[in-house]
Amino acid sequence: KSRVRNMVSPEKLLYKQPSVLVGRTDVVSVTPWLAPIIWEGTFDPVLIDNIYKPMNLTIATTVFAIGKYDRFIRDFLETAEKHFMVGFNVRYYVFTDLPHNVPSVNLNQGRHLTVIQVPGSNRWQEISARRMEIIQTTIEHQIRREADYIFCLDVDSKFHAHWGAESLGRLVAVIHPGYYEQTRDRFPYERRPASTAYIHMDEGDYYYGGAMIGGFVEDVYTLTKVCRNKFEEDAGNSIEAARQDESHLNRYLLYNKPSKVLSPEYLWQDFKAKTKEVKVIRFSGVIKNYAEVRPN
Ligand code: UDP
Ligand code: MN
Repeated sequence: KSRVRNMVSPEKLLYKQPSVLVGRTDVVSVTPWLAPIIWEGTFDPVLIDNIYKPMNLTIATTVFAIGKYDRFIRDFLETAEKHFMVGFNVRYYVFTDLPHNVPSVNLNQGRHLTVIQVPGSNRWQEISARRMEIIQTTIEHQIRREADYIFCLDVDSKFHAHWGAESLGRLVAVIHPGYYEQTRDRFPYERRPASTAYIHMDEGDYYYGGAMIGGFVEDVYTLTKVCRNKFEEDAGNSIEAARQDESHLNRYLLYNKPSKVLSPEYLWQDFKAKTKEVKVIRFSGVIKNYAEVRPN
């Protein structure tokens, strides 16, 4: 697929005048390296979607459902059809060890589902970490030819509100909902220097959630390749990062700054009460019984 061309303003679209002086003041909406942080009230969703729609983009969306996580696929897909990149071409890639358990869900026009069989595992840590490797190889073999952007998401989640073109960027990460009020020394980064995911107590920008990685296919390809190699290097030294793929993701993003950062509106958790700065929950992890759904 070709690269994204320059943005053009949609003709004859009426929208509210942007203000230079009035906007949200209760949250920070730009990082110190000048990447936007996406919060409700900082963008016009109709305007943005209208800018991106003429580009006829295809958005790849990967989810893994290994073992008992097949139970989450239906709600994930059905709510994505209601809220996620509505009006865009979306190609879902569902990775599972049980292809026959993937439910048939009605997809809207321009949306497509591919089921890809992958091996199961009896260690959830390995399932989570191997996502990097499988995404990397699937980009190589298939996604690179089929999509412009990619989002890699956790399947044990649902969409609750608009998630549109405001989320598109070269390299997109999401702020984890559990740590955004903490100082960096409290972040659950990998703290053992022996791991390639190590981050010093005095370093780190945000704590990013491993349940969402996004961006241009080629940028996410590089990210998954680097994280996969580092995970394997650690394994060779008999070390596994504290939060598996999430630890490697955080280390990668410290040295390769995201070009866009999604606020915790884009990654909430159902057990967590909404806070005042979160005006809308767009995507949220469901409550699950860990002992029951995970293999160990
Ligand atoms: N996963 C899976 N089967 C498992 C464990 C994990 O398919 O037995 C996948 C699934 O896509 C899940 C992701 O790995 O969304 C991350 O694991 P999990 O959601 O359990 O981690 P958490 O979000 O609770 O930290
Ligand atoms: Mn999850």
